[in-house]
Amino acid sequence: MVEESSRKRKLEDQEESESKKKRKYDGFERTTTLEELRRAQVDFANARDWNQYHTPRNLLCALVGEVGELSEIFQWKGEVAPGCPKFSHKEKSHLGEELSDVLLYLVRLADQCHVDLATAVKDKLKKNAMKYPAEKVFGSSKKYDEYKKSN
Ligand SMILES: [Mg+2]
Repeated sequence: MVEESSRKRKLEDQEESESKKKRKYDGFERTTTLEELRRAQVDFANARDWNQYHTPRNLLCALVGEVGELSEIFQWKGEVAPGCPKFSHKEKSHLGEELSDVLLYLVRLADQCHVDLATAVKDKLKKNAMKYPAEKVFGSSKKYDEYKKSN
């Protein structure tokens, strides 16, 4: 009886894992905010008495280190198509972890520098839209100062 329920549970776990693998990508989960991530990082550091180590310079070095770990995933693979279709499930999972490390250190760095990252990123998006007007740069990868010269 115990063996049968254990086998059934194992099968259910396998099916759940398979379904997770097959789930179609549909953008990001909709409810998580940068403020929620900032708060989680504050709680994480407070609980470990790590604020003493989370200075801006240390956080920047940690962020750069994580960008290096992220780069390693793509190293020697040649061009990778959107969606990373040739990545194994394990590689894709590792990719998610390293992207998260980068984001978490970025959020923590912004917080320790007292930069409101949510506002800053929205301002930056507006600046980029003005710098690269769609009607002028459509289909071009030129830098903003190059298309200004050519037009
Ligand atoms: Mg990492």
